[in-house]
Amino acid sequence: MRILISNDDGIYSPGVAALAEVARQFGEVRIVAPDVEQSSMGHAITANRPLGYCRTPVGDFEAFRVNGTPADCVALGVDHWGGVDLVLSGINLGTNLGTAIWHSGTVAAAKQATILGLRGIALSTAVNDQVPEFGRLRPHIEEVLRLLMQEASPRLVNVNLPGNPHGIQWTRQSVRQYDAKILAIKDPMGRDLYWFTVGPVGQAEPGTDRWAFEHGLVSITPLSLDLTDYAALHGLAESSKARSSREYS
Ligand code: MN
Repeated sequence: MRILISNDDGIYSPGVAALAEVARQFGEVRIVAPDVEQSSMGHAITANRPLGYCRTPVGDFEAFRVNGTPADCVALGVDHWGGVDLVLSGINLGTNLGTAIWHSGTVAAAKQATILGLRGIALSTAVNDQVPEFGRLRPHIEEVLRLLMQEASPRLVNVNLPGNPHGIQWTRQSVRQYDAKILAIKDPMGRDLYWFTVGPVGQAEPGTDRWAFEHGLVSITPLSLDLTDYAALHGLAESSKARSSREYS
């Protein structure tokens, strides 16, 4: 099995090497990752300039760095290697819970795999001022990968690992608990600058990714590429049906 690994923290992140170490027991591993950090770039693609693809071994793993986004890396990596069976993204240094899925480059790399017809798994973990203890996470990542490589498992998933997990939970995305804030600061010359930040607001709802993570559980959320609001669509179809039957009766 050919396993392509990418991330959004950049090819030199310790998270990508840690994930490659776990993945190698499942198949042949290759890393294709951004040359610099691309966190919060979402599913951006580089459409207005060419991309480089430079061999940059990571430990004893075959690896390539790309001057592009996580989605670019997966598209290029799949095209160059050929025969890729699975794309893993991460391990991101920082969670990707709830609304963060919208701007996460880690999730976007997995999403790009699914767009190309492949299975995509995004993995993220909590981070503070220390590098996460990947050794402690290793058995949990192994368990998650074994579970998600089964034929019947969802094709696109977002996995978040607490620092010291004591179980696994299938979850849904929390959508209401994140708030975007603009924080104003001054630069040394007294000019206005702004930070755009997001953070959780209120309590996590049971069954959500954030709830599981806060309770020490590995959260696994199956995702869908289809963003259609089916309830709204159904309502609109019903009301237009009612309207046309009124008009023609
Ligand atoms: Mn990141």
